[in-house]
This record gives sequence, C-alpha cells and structure tokens, in this order.
Amino acid sequence: MLITARGLFDGRTPQVLADPVVEVADGRIVGVRADGSRARGMDVLDLGDATLLPGLIDVHQHLAFDASSDPVARIQSDDDATLLLRMRLAARRALAAGITTIRDLGDRNYLSLTLRDWFRSGAEIGPRIIASGPPITVTGGHCWFLGGAADGVEFSSVPAISGRAVTRPVTRIRRRQASRSRARLRRPRPANRIRASG
Ligand SMILES: [Zn+2]
Repeated sequence: MLITARGLFDGRTPQVLADPVVEVADGRIVGVRADGSRARGMDVLDLGDATLLPGLIDVHQHLAFDASSDPVARIQSDDDATLLLRMRLAARRALAAGITTIRDLGDRNYLSLTLRDWFRSGAEIGPRIIASGPPITVTGGHCWFLGGAADGVEFSSVPAISGRAVTRPVTRIRRRQASRSRARLRRPRPANRIRASG
C-alpha cells in the first residue's frame, strides 16, 4: 500500500518533504520517497492536505491517572475493571492524537500490562505499551496507593489502595506480604520504576 499526502516530516531534518509517497507492507513502513512516484497496481491512500510524521512516543505516562482535579481519589474509588476501562480509553485517545508508543511508569495491579497484552493480541487497535507496573516506593511514599510499597531487603509491601495499612507495623506487613512481594518481583517487567525519593 502507498500513502500520499501534501508533506512529510521525518524528524531527521527540519524540512518538510513535499509530495511524499510512503510504502507500507505487512503493517510496516518499507520505503519513503519524496518524488511522488507510484508503483502501478498498488493501493493508494491519499490523505490530501495533511503532513505525515512518525508516531510519537510518550516516555512518561500514567494511563491510570485521569485529568480530573483529584486523580488519586478517582483511582482509589475505581475497582480494577473500571480502572482498566478508563486506561483503555486513555490509550485509545493517545493513539488518536498520534502517540503510537506509551511508556507507563506506574499503574495498579499491573493493569497496563494487561492492556498491553490486549492490544498485542490484535483484538483492538491501540498504542504499543511499555510498562513498569506498580512503582516501588517506601511505605507511605510517593504513589504508595498504587500498591508498590516496599521496605528493606525483605521487599515487603502494603496492600494496594489501603491507607490504613500504612499505619500498621512494618514487621507485621513484612511477614504477611513477603511471599506476595517476591511473586510480584518475579513477574517480568519491560520497565522498572523505583521512587527512591520516597
Ligand atoms: Zn510519573
């Protein structure tokens, strides 16, 4: 397939190429020409008075956070099913805005990885997602409510979204949560996020 438009910006030079032809095969760009020439017999998608550019990459995203005045309260009131639906909506909106890759640096219960796998399955078009899962922080630290709190070498954690748990003795939490925490760390993550500043 060929895609044509008025111009193309490739990010390598500040110039906009006029009258470009982008060749796509098996879902991938295999060639870009600026001379407007077209191979005969190929399907052509003419986007008219548009400027083509590569997909944008958002390197610091939280699909779980909405744009309301209190995104934390929203997350805490949502169950996982609702939160996942909101994240799906946010990812689809990002794609519609030209963001084809999202690096999510903090979710709850690895929902961004669930969403990544959903889009990967081809069931629905979505952006490529690279995700850390819940960020690792100290008990009561930055974004503790996402469920990634851990203290010391035991790497314990507090239950997700439970503010009361933060006030419990760390030793008790450690005993109860240690095995779950280890299991969590064993889960492969394409990206890791540790909030060392607390
Ligand atoms: Zn962040």
